Amino acid sequence: MAKKMHDTPNLDELEKGPWPSFVTGLKDLAKEKDYMVDLLGQLETSYKTRKGYWKGGTVGVFGYGGGVIPRFTELKDDKGQPIYKDAAEFHTLRIMPPPGMHYDTGTLRQFCDLWEKHGSGLIAFHGQSGDIMFQGATTENVQKAFDDINEMGFDLGGAGPAVRTSMSCVGAARCEQSCYDEAKAHRTVLNTFLDDIHRPSLPYKFKFKFSGCPNDCMNSIQRSDMAVIGTWRDNIRTDDDLGKKWFAKHGMNELINDVVARCPTKALQIKEVKNVRKDAHITSVALDGVQALEIDNKDCVRCMHCVNVMTGALAPGKDKGVTVLIGGKSHLKIGGLLGTVIIPFMKLEADEDFEKLTDFAQRTIDFFAENALEHERTGEMIERIGLATFLEAMEVDVDPAMVNSPRMNPYVRTDGWDDEVAKINAKKQAA
Ligand code: SF4
Repeated sequence: MAKKMHDTPNLDELEKGPWPSFVTGLKDLAKEKDYMVDLLGQLETSYKTRKGYWKGGTVGVFGYGGGVIPRFTELKDDKGQPIYKDAAEFHTLRIMPPPGMHYDTGTLRQFCDLWEKHGSGLIAFHGQSGDIMFQGATTENVQKAFDDINEMGFDLGGAGPAVRTSMSCVGAARCEQSCYDEAKAHRTVLNTFLDDIHRPSLPYKFKFKFSGCPNDCMNSIQRSDMAVIGTWRDNIRTDDDLGKKWFAKHGMNELINDVVARCPTKALQIKEVKNVRKDAHITSVALDGVQALEIDNKDCVRCMHCVNVMTGALAPGKDKGVTVLIGGKSHLKIGGLLGTVIIPFMKLEADEDFEKLTDFAQRTIDFFAENALEHERTGEMIERIGLATFLEAMEVDVDPAMVNSPRMNPYVRTDGWDDEVAKINAKKQAA
């Protein structure tokens, strides 16, 4: 049984309304722990004064240069003593999640038990950085907690100017759209950069994220310096039986309004089966005995919309691989940047393919380490030095897929246009 709760009228307000509240969770933990009682006391003060009272410091575990986020209270009395002394230290351990964030319940129970023993009991699955956030430990308990977590086979994540903890989507284990082995790519790349995770020595942070298909469930385009996204380069696969089933259930209105009209490149058309074009880049899926949905695959930009809506009837192609983008980041300094395509397509199946990916990541990080300014992300560095310079350093040839909006590029080839016009004119005259 913990000590008496502080009055928390402001926090109590957050428990009202229809949504679950983190305050209720904290109060539950406070039934057993003085630590959490005082945490609520400090939090209530923050809500009253609208100020935060945590400051950083230096706390770590042996052999590591990062991964622990230190928090010391600044809320002191006249004698310089913490007002909420039981929560005077509230450090967070960042722990790397397994690829795809797959856990068994035994592991989760073990996590809960060890954190109740050494820390506050409060765990976040997962923080914005992708880590499991073990929140709230005293300086004395940080090493003890880490030793237990490490014993289970888990390792500290990154913090500061270092390679950061990575994330990969749930992947092939549970998703039919997966285009490569995300978990293997995640693990292979991260294992290569463990030193750069644990000993911050880069100009600024560097993040990898792995998404199995262009749905990009990890938001890797927006949120990682190097995004590895699954894709395919042949035609969308189709299944006539599932196409008919889908059409019988959803009908023509939905097909037109939710599928055909939403294709960003107008690659879809409804045709009578007999009129479907015969070409290597054309595929079609049956809707009923008479009509079919025709896909012009050379116009498809892999936005995934039709594949998501008609899952099963439509599916990613068979010739799968990944697109690698560099330079995504969030809002600081020059504003949000989306990653730029650097490798439009590479296979990622054989061991050599994974080696190639790791090698490319290594060259990118080496270049970043040598050329970025202090506190500058990869995307900002590329903006400053120019994409051409970066590509040259990476020994990657320029490709039209690197243009932000290829279809708005005004530089189009006009060879053959005159012949075309002459043919049209000749036809008109003949008529
Ligand atoms: Fe169009 Fe391709 Fe997107 Fe389907 S995946 S809606 S065909 S661009």
